Amino acid sequence: MTLSTADIRRKFIEYFSRNGHQAVASSSLVPADDPTLLFTNAGMNQFKDVFLGSEKRSYTRAVSSQRCVRAGGKHNDLENVGYTARHHTFFEMLGNFSFGDYFKQEAIQFAWSFLTEELKLPKDKLLVTVYAEDDEAFDIWENQIGVPKEKIIRIATSDNFWSMGDTGPCGPCSEIFYDHGEHIWGGPPGTSEEDGDRFIEIWNLVFMQFNRQADGTMEPLPKPSIDTGMGLERISAIMQHVHSNYEIDLFDNLIKAAATIVGTEDLSNKSLRVIADHIRSCAFLVCDGVMPSNEGRGYVLRRIIRRAVRHGYQLGASDIFFYKLVEALIKEMGEAYPELKDQKPVIEKVLRVEEEQFSKTLSRGMNILNEALEALEGTVIPGELVFKLYDTYGFPTDLTADVAREHDYTIDEDGFQAAMQAQRKRAQEASQFGADYNDTLRVEQETAFTGYDKGEQESNVV
Ligand code: ATP
Ligand code: MG
Ligand code: MG
Ligand code: MG
Repeated sequence: MTLSTADIRRKFIEYFSRNGHQAVASSSLVPADDPTLLFTNAGMNQFKDVFLGSEKRSYTRAVSSQRCVRAGGKHNDLENVGYTARHHTFFEMLGNFSFGDYFKQEAIQFAWSFLTEELKLPKDKLLVTVYAEDDEAFDIWENQIGVPKEKIIRIATSDNFWSMGDTGPCGPCSEIFYDHGEHIWGGPPGTSEEDGDRFIEIWNLVFMQFNRQADGTMEPLPKPSIDTGMGLERISAIMQHVHSNYEIDLFDNLIKAAATIVGTEDLSNKSLRVIADHIRSCAFLVCDGVMPSNEGRGYVLRRIIRRAVRHGYQLGASDIFFYKLVEALIKEMGEAYPELKDQKPVIEKVLRVEEEQFSKTLSRGMNILNEALEALEGTVIPGELVFKLYDTYGFPTDLTADVAREHDYTIDEDGFQAAMQAQRKRAQEASQFGADYNDTLRVEQETAFTGYDKGEQESNVV
């Protein structure tokens, strides 16, 4: 069976609706009333208060396809884009939720039946993990579902134990993996080669079972709940018989559009994948009201745009190009997300203006960086240079690090921070004489982006 990405999204919602779940629309990428969370990064975010019991809904089962961004804060997959087959900055998370309704057994059964009956995935390609101590989940997989013992892997790390924070709801997880075949490097979860892309995690089932107290004790929740998340692009890859998310219908079209716009014929170029990924996060972030700026969410957006622009430059784009991809994106995703169509003029304008601004300094900055790389002894780019590129040419540090990585170099983070401190000190001293350095200072303070890191909710699993 081959299914389009749009078909899978639809099938998922239909399947769970048929099974008593309320279909709930994706919430914004900017979390409502939650300043501790950088961007919506999981389907459960919009239900946080329902899980905590402080908000009541008219339903106890829900299903959604949630737009997510993981490009900063605790969950940062920005660096993975272009390097793994399975990570995006923007992706959609399909999820089914039980608010004190069904629990472990039904959650496992729903997931298994969706994959093997609705999508007809071959059972022998699937393997699962459970939390090391979760005998109950192990037993359900083995005896009720019939997964052979050797394909149920016990994991003792936090990868298989989810918690919302230091206290509050938490519980074990069970993850479902798909084996893409021996020809791809990687080992099953729990082995030293698990970071490879042979066994790809597709679905995470979280069993919210305990309420962790301040003293660490685990009280059983009176009404345990379920939170699950499956990456739409990852399941699409499987259903379209390709290995990488970047080969699915949606990305294939975006990559071709990007190639035409920047004027390259090398469709396998990594930079095209980066651009196709970044147009999704950037367009959706602007659509949800984020504007490029020097602080907070806006600075993360600015960094992603500049990164995409640099990759276009790398491919030889001779003109402002990034905004032109909005049209292709709307073709792929406008039906599922009509707001993208409504906001088209705004999105295009914001991306165009940001690129125009950055392109003024990009090529000079790149020349300086390339010359420095040629003259460099060792493999670490000095912090002073990273700072100069940042301060004078508008290169966010991750952009310089991205270029460095392409040459197997790294950047000197500590040296960069020291250069930044020195500048701050100079600015403070100068301010005694009434000089105005405020603009510069704001940019500097944002670079490390620690603001959201500290208190960000622990929604790392789904
Ligand atoms: P991985 O270990 O592959 O990074 P994860 O454990 O961080 O995934 P979860 O937090 O469990 O992912 O999210 C639930 C599901 O969302 C995953 O099983 C996966 O299918 C999907 N997913 C997570 N991160 C990404 C991403 N950056 N791009 C695409 N899909 C993702
Ligand atoms: Mg991850
Ligand atoms: Mg994982
Ligand atoms: Mg996971």
